[in-house]
Amino acid sequence: MKDLIFLTYSEIKKRLNEGSLSSEELVSAYLERINAVDSKLKAFLELNQEKILKQAKESDDRRKNGKLLSEFDGIPIGIKDNICITGEVTSCSSKILENFVSPYDATVISKLKDKGFVLFPRLNMDEFAMGSSTENSAYQTSKNPFDSDRIPGGSSGGSAAAVAGSMLPISLGSDTGGSIRQPASLCGIWGLKPTYGRVSRYGLVAYASSLDQIGPFSNDMDGISDLLEILSGIDSKDQTTSKVNQFESKSMNEIDWKGKKIGIMKTEDFNFSPDVNARYLEILKTLEGKGAELVPLDFSLLKYAIPVYYLIATAECSSNLSRFDGIRYGLRKETSGKLDDLYSESRSAGFGKEVKRRILLGTFSLSSGYYDAYYGKAQKARVLIRKQYAEFFKTVDVILQPTSPTTAFKVGEKTKDPIQMYQADILTTSVNLAGVPAISCPAGLDQNGLPIGVQLTTSHFDENKLLGFAKSLSKLDICQISLPKEIK
Ligand code: GLN
Repeated sequence: MKDLIFLTYSEIKKRLNEGSLSSEELVSAYLERINAVDSKLKAFLELNQEKILKQAKESDDRRKNGKLLSEFDGIPIGIKDNICITGEVTSCSSKILENFVSPYDATVISKLKDKGFVLFPRLNMDEFAMGSSTENSAYQTSKNPFDSDRIPGGSSGGSAAAVAGSMLPISLGSDTGGSIRQPASLCGIWGLKPTYGRVSRYGLVAYASSLDQIGPFSNDMDGISDLLEILSGIDSKDQTTSKVNQFESKSMNEIDWKGKKIGIMKTEDFNFSPDVNARYLEILKTLEGKGAELVPLDFSLLKYAIPVYYLIATAECSSNLSRFDGIRYGLRKETSGKLDDLYSESRSAGFGKEVKRRILLGTFSLSSGYYDAYYGKAQKARVLIRKQYAEFFKTVDVILQPTSPTTAFKVGEKTKDPIQMYQADILTTSVNLAGVPAISCPAGLDQNGLPIGVQLTTSHFDENKLLGFAKSLSKLDICQISLPKEIK
């Protein structure tokens, strides 16, 4: 029974479908694991065990009666706390939405329900997805399953810790500037940010609408490709979704490295930790040995990605978060009767420090007299970054970089210095600015036994190729990672 939790997503899917495992058995094993280790890992903000078991039993009944909804019926999946599920709290790990119960399902949730997945809400995150460590959650800091003195990354840290801690095989997160890829990298699992427009954002609480995408985490590559196929597609409720080139996981094949052009970066220009640097070079050498052609790319524009991202993301968040005013949603502070006081007191009490900082930054850069100098300029630089990627993909098939400059850092290590925390997003934010898809793949462990991750990027709507490369990479010996059985 105990070992069930260490199965990969594909093994689970196979065993459920051949009838050697019931959803109830599986879900009970995960609940047992969660009860045993989540007091240390703090991935879950809430767990309604009865409701979860009920879904599993319903799935088993459907199977008995020959009424299966799909080949995924009965598979458990974790949900980040910013994705709306009817009748569940969606708090975005914020006090302002502490008691907000969603009246509707996000499109991705309807899709999962239609296929019979067993939903496990709610996974911890940085408040409103602003952060890289989950330390900005108003409720708790999640911990890294490889070392519980360290952070799991963020903002989807709960979603990553749940999978890496073998509390679930797959989960959903959201990625605005790296929030799926960076925690996937720090936790030794796979995490995909799809092309902007691939997956509907309807029912995802908006942080920065022109950058946000929902995407999957998984303990193997097949979980990523299955979920991408299920989640993707045009949606009349999200006008930015596209019907271009629908992704089909069955048509995705491993890619032979021979003759493929891999875009690489000069590591000397970046402040990578020695272990991350060494592993990256080792992987490049291995791929070269397999016949790939390494093409050095000029990433000098990357140095603008951080300021451009933090200007655009904060500008959009200051506008998106203005709806949380104490009147329409969530927390309301009763005041003397003046409307302005109600707004300001509700927002002062409901938002955490980092969210306030970003709302202020965004409001400032959008204000008259500063708009052109900051927000306008950032938009122009964003166009250049997007063009740069288009140029890259004229000459290379895929770009390969580390996902994060370092492995997981200690809880509290970077909280005093937000700029230092922002700088860790150097390799992920430009991908969101360009709108292209990217995946973080496990790449072995560093000397402290902490996971290293590498990021693969292709051009818009080219996930077929992207996941093919990722699958090939997952076969390399130096990329193997076993998830921890004991949580220390
Ligand atoms: N770390 C980045 C930030 O703090 C990215 C967050 C995200 O992708 N949601 O904004």
